[in-house]
Amino acid sequence: MSGKNVTDIVLADVEGIAKAARILESGGLVAVPTETVYGLAARADSPEAVARIYAAKGRPDFNPLIVHVRDLEQAERYGVFAGAARVLAGKEWPGPLTLVVPRRADAGLAGAVSAGLPTIAMRAPQHPVMRALLQAVDFPLAAPSANRSGFISPTTPEHVLASLDGRIDMVLDGGPCEDGVESTILLIDPEGVWHELRPGPIYLPALNDIHFDPHYPVKIVRATGERGIEAPGQLASHYAPGKPVRLNAGAAEPDEFLIGFGAVHGDCTLSASGDINEAAARLYACLHEAARARQPRIAVATVPDEGVGRAINDRLRRAAA
Ligand code: AMP
Ligand code: MG
Repeated sequence: MSGKNVTDIVLADVEGIAKAARILESGGLVAVPTETVYGLAARADSPEAVARIYAAKGRPDFNPLIVHVRDLEQAERYGVFAGAARVLAGKEWPGPLTLVVPRRADAGLAGAVSAGLPTIAMRAPQHPVMRALLQAVDFPLAAPSANRSGFISPTTPEHVLASLDGRIDMVLDGGPCEDGVESTILLIDPEGVWHELRPGPIYLPALNDIHFDPHYPVKIVRATGERGIEAPGQLASHYAPGKPVRLNAGAAEPDEFLIGFGAVHGDCTLSASGDINEAAARLYACLHEAARARQPRIAVATVPDEGVGRAINDRLRRAAA
């Protein structure tokens, strides 16, 4: 789509990052690479800027955003980090772990970032471009995935423009995202139970073993949606390519675009060697290709439900819903 874009794609060098910082300061929207997917960033302390995110994405206003910070020290100005949440932020940040914690009454952020909830979702990302940007500005960045609501998440600048061209001010080009699926979201309730609101690159039982006493594992429950808006990733239909999707396919029907894995070779293959991390990194690129393909239907090979495979299958089920 080069040459015909309304929104500029700007290389994420020192100049590009400075330009992005100026746009954000004046309340604009910039798509920024993170280690998970491209985020659509706006200053989290401005109700007008945050409102622009919801408008550009067509995102329902009950669906809260993740606030991105440099580190735990900055995060503590906005949220209360106690107990295990504090330990995890200290040990896992920067990284693809989002923690939902009580929002401070004096947070001074737009109410819409947490959709009016008493809690706030925060993460310190590890991607060098997002980190440089967070250093260049003196406010945290609200940043949901940089795509129209319900559509496929972006892992390249071109994916961003596939649904947001002309609706945002700029895309910072930092190449393809390495992890390829959205952050793991964890809420620890007042009883200490861990609620996995969204599976992602970080596998929670492993965190529990690494940082806490493995003889007394905490109870980790998958979110059911009963707690309401907690996870939009929990909306049954999400990440939708706009065509029917058939899962656990061994081969393609004549009118299907096949997304392969391992021994099942597709029109696009997640990982020919069966590497689950490679599959996560390629998931959205294959879904974007499938959405653009001439075939009216999509079939996807079985992906093992291990490690980040749980996150891949979660996204695929929603793409198929
Ligand atoms: P996205 O920005 O598209 O990656 O989605 C952000 C995710 O964070 C959604 O699944 C939200 O439901 C979740 N989230 C954000 N804030 C909160 C919160 N205060 N409580 C629970 N979940 C949240
Ligand atoms: Mg999203």
